[in-house]
Amino acid sequence: MKKSIPYGRQNITDEDIQAVNDVLRGDFLTQGPHILQFETEFAEYIGSKYAVAVANGTAALHLSIMALNIKEHDKVITTPITFAASANCVRYCGGDVVFADIDPETYLLDINSVRALLEKSPKGTYKGIIPVDFAGRGVDMEAFKALADEYNLWIIEDACHAPGGYVTDSKSKMQLCGNGNFAELAIFSFHPVKHIACGEGGMITTNDEALYKRLLMLRTHGITRDLSLFKNDINFAAGQSQAEGADFPGWYMEMQTLGYNYRLTDFQAALGNSQLSRAEDGLTKRREIAAIYNAAFVGKSFLKGQSGVIDGHAYHLYILEVDDRLGLYNYLKENRIYAQIHYIPCHLMPYYKQFGWKEGDMPAAENYYKHCISLPMYPTLTSDEQEYVISMINAFYNE
Ligand SMILES: *Cc1c(COP(=O)(O)O)cnc(C)c1O
Repeated sequence: MKKSIPYGRQNITDEDIQAVNDVLRGDFLTQGPHILQFETEFAEYIGSKYAVAVANGTAALHLSIMALNIKEHDKVITTPITFAASANCVRYCGGDVVFADIDPETYLLDINSVRALLEKSPKGTYKGIIPVDFAGRGVDMEAFKALADEYNLWIIEDACHAPGGYVTDSKSKMQLCGNGNFAELAIFSFHPVKHIACGEGGMITTNDEALYKRLLMLRTHGITRDLSLFKNDINFAAGQSQAEGADFPGWYMEMQTLGYNYRLTDFQAALGNSQLSRAEDGLTKRREIAAIYNAAFVGKSFLKGQSGVIDGHAYHLYILEVDDRLGLYNYLKENRIYAQIHYIPCHLMPYYKQFGWKEGDMPAAENYYKHCISLPMYPTLTSDEQEYVISMINAFYNE
């Protein structure tokens, strides 16, 4: 087998290329009609009221933190087993990141570690929680929401790994990851390894109209053109005295708060929409691939844990915990299979160590890191390729 097999990759079809082409030949490269269409259709897919398209998932996190008014040294809790951006967004606004350990069975932020942290400090010490639907497995948001309400915290659900994933709630209702029923805000990424690829891109979902409006402003420099929000008077705006009942001039807008340029382009939105129309098929394929891995590895002696087959899992990643993980990683690489490690615990990154985090602080996360490996998982992985991956793993362990 000559072709290399990555752990994840995008799937671009002729329809996707056509959709981008059409925008490139049209009038608007940015802020055209595809942005609102993408937002509307994404919100529908996820089950939220509102969606705001942004430049990438990190920008989505940054704007979310800003919209929730994080200030210097506000404390926010997150998991160490995530992409650094889930924590970094707190730092962008001067907040303090407090890590809590993972549940070794689910690999998700452990609600009991979070509760323990909250109980140790006076109420009001912490401002928010950022749970992550890691690998595509949905967090029990209902439970986190109950805990957050007890301590008056907001929640940002980092659902980058889980568009289309879901959890069944206590009333046996399906709750899609990021639908906003148990969180103020949720965020997604459209990086090429994620379920929906825009090149770069991100989305914030919410059911809260005030947050939605604030996010729209923050996304574009803090500027508004909504005349119901204008603060300056109409004579100033016009540059001359106006008759009573006159309209604000056509050019007029106001910058009312400090925002950024975190917009998505119209051709990226067109790509996103085209990808979104196939998202359900991709999810089905990911779940089929997971079931095959699961059946192939269950009960193997080298196995310490695996993602397993879980209802509602969106399988951004398929993870094994194994003995001699380094040996396996290198062996697979020699055989052109590029497995990956998700993640090096955030609290042990040199940047976070400067705040006092050290080895031993998060035993479950650190133990998980010693054994985890993410196998190739993407909708276009062929059954021949998957069989090859499985056979190489078995060969490495002589099984
Ligand atoms: C990819 C990812 C992000 C950041 O998204 P970008 O679009 O790459 O900025 C944030 N959190 C998690 C969990 C991610 O996987």
